[in-house]
Amino acid sequence: MYAFFRNFYLCAKFQTMTITEILNKVGPSILQQAQDSGTEGSRTLTHEKIKLLLAAEGDDKKLLFDQALQTKLAHLDNYVHLRGLIEYSNICTKYCLYCGVRCKNLKVERYTLSDEEVIECAKLAHELGYGSVALQSGERSDKAFVDKITYLVQEIKKIDNGSLGITLSLGEQTEETYRRWFEAGAHRYLLRIEASNEDLYYKIHPHDEKHDFQQRLACIDGLLKVGYQTGTGVMVGLPFQTLDDLADDLLFFKQKDVAMVGMGPFIPHPDTPLWQYRDQIPSAEERMELTLKMIAVLRLMMPEINMVAATANQTVDPQGREKAILAGANVIMPNLTPNEFRENYLIYPDKACVKDKPDECHSCLDVRLAAIGHKVLYNAWGDSVAFTKRQKKS
Ligand code: SF4
Repeated sequence: MYAFFRNFYLCAKFQTMTITEILNKVGPSILQQAQDSGTEGSRTLTHEKIKLLLAAEGDDKKLLFDQALQTKLAHLDNYVHLRGLIEYSNICTKYCLYCGVRCKNLKVERYTLSDEEVIECAKLAHELGYGSVALQSGERSDKAFVDKITYLVQEIKKIDNGSLGITLSLGEQTEETYRRWFEAGAHRYLLRIEASNEDLYYKIHPHDEKHDFQQRLACIDGLLKVGYQTGTGVMVGLPFQTLDDLADDLLFFKQKDVAMVGMGPFIPHPDTPLWQYRDQIPSAEERMELTLKMIAVLRLMMPEINMVAATANQTVDPQGREKAILAGANVIMPNLTPNEFRENYLIYPDKACVKDKPDECHSCLDVRLAAIGHKVLYNAWGDSVAFTKRQKKS
């Protein structure tokens, strides 16, 4: 089935060499141009220029990271926003080809948190001063699930008179469901496109009625229409993915004018169909590096959006989250899921922080961020500045 796909895969090293030669000729002027304070600079970032930046090495790469950090500090200061992550359930009706939680993986022990457990996690987030929670789950759209989420959102909003912001990451739903949850009190929604190139999308998802690229696009549009601070994102270093795909992903975020983006390195899971291509992807180090460049270039293109330093970064590199923050990210999602369930929510293997207790994670974060000149903004929702400004204008 996959034999012909191999022809599509372009080795990152081959591209880097070619592009580095070009970049050396052009010099760092492209980076300078890109930084011209936000929107002006971002207008100059065409597909070809983005590709060049993603292939930057040596001094060019250093300059790219430097300018992304300066852009972030100028627009968003050195604050990091926290979203206490609650992995509500690993029951999923889908079977994405990269995901360890896919319903066809019979090795996974399935769980759903009780209402009390969810509320306890949310209360803990509030006590720790996180300001926001993110409720994530495998995808279900049956009435019982939709009703339950509505109830849980309403209950979380009752904590200290609605002081917690709520992000949902519950997959594809009808616009009516999105609206219902929004009206219940959720105001941010994360739905990663995973690959904005339709061909690539179908290499990492089955091509059937449950996994429909156009439907996913329609869901993102539906979220924007309902009024969520809408987030999306991709995996970096997928089999068959090229620098062209990645450049187009960044342009897709810009074109959709999303409020949040989450990007992390692809990490193959042994119990998934994509595992067979693990030898055909860039090394873990290269995937991490490319993720950081994606974050940095996007920060130049969209200076005021929220960008997550994904846990996948830390899984690949113990300093991965800090590196992502220094490359331009400004959000971290500490895991508040009760420890006994975390081992069963492994979309990718060896996930970082699975064994950490919430309070350990909390103090560890403060120390780690202080070491890189950043600090947590406690007791705040940490909304996307880009979104808030747009709201004010309209
Ligand atoms: S990525 Fe999400 S929707 Fe796809 S199988 Fe995993 S949990 Fe389900």
